[in-house]
Amino acid sequence: MSAHDLPWWAPLSVVVWVVQMIAYHGFGLWFEYLDRTGALAAYKVRPVDAWTYRQVLPRVLVNQVFILLPAMALVQWAGLAYVGPEHIGWIAFVAGLVLMAIGHDVVQYVSHCWILHRPALMRTLGHSVHHSTTASRSISACFMSPTDFLLEIAFPYLLPLIAITLIGCAGADIRFHFLAVAAGAFGGLYEHSGYDFSVKLAGSDNALARFVAGRISSKAHAEHHSRGNVSFSDGFGSSNICDTVFKTRWDLVGPRERRRARPSGGRTA
Ligand SMILES: [Zn+2]
Ligand SMILES: [Zn+2]
Repeated sequence: MSAHDLPWWAPLSVVVWVVQMIAYHGFGLWFEYLDRTGALAAYKVRPVDAWTYRQVLPRVLVNQVFILLPAMALVQWAGLAYVGPEHIGWIAFVAGLVLMAIGHDVVQYVSHCWILHRPALMRTLGHSVHHSTTASRSISACFMSPTDFLLEIAFPYLLPLIAITLIGCAGADIRFHFLAVAAGAFGGLYEHSGYDFSVKLAGSDNALARFVAGRISSKAHAEHHSRGNVSFSDGFGSSNICDTVFKTRWDLVGPRERRRARPSGGRTA
């Protein structure tokens, strides 16, 4: 199937949104199944969130239906993304994914760290809603205020997508768009699931196994939820460029705070 085969009433942006919903809620239900059956309890590293699946779902759906879907359709209508060649070459494909990951990191960091976490804006823009969860119920990844959802989910996806479309690295290639949204959905759900599939590898004697463990850990975003002042880029699947450059990565902040706290002997943030 190519974008050319799609009927007029199902533009590519809408089809991509549908795939995103299937991926998001499919993975979400799988994690919920794991929570209820304890099937992978050995990897569940945090107690399940007090917010239930039923309590979280309506707000998530409102955000996805009334913000993400119109935003994606608008971007296509304006000719900014989901347009262009129906098949891009593999170099453009890989470059597009890499640039999307970097662009997502940057936009997410600016929105999340510099806007949403400003003390004066935390409640005004409603980021406190998302922080009422503990990153241990997968579908809570999109449990947030409308403004928060726009800044943390829609913009970090669409702004880099528009940029790479301009340079020919996305076009209307269905394979590219499906992979990008499915990977993004899994990443968000996993880091909010309370599962960490790296725990067994992390204890290995093998350096390669420990390296892989570091790449697949969900700890970064869990640290963000528990400490509030670290790891502002999405954790799993993120390039972590901004958190590294600005030294807000969870494993960098601890020592820095301890050093700072020592002279006064006071508390750490
Ligand atoms: Zn979160
Ligand atoms: Zn936050």
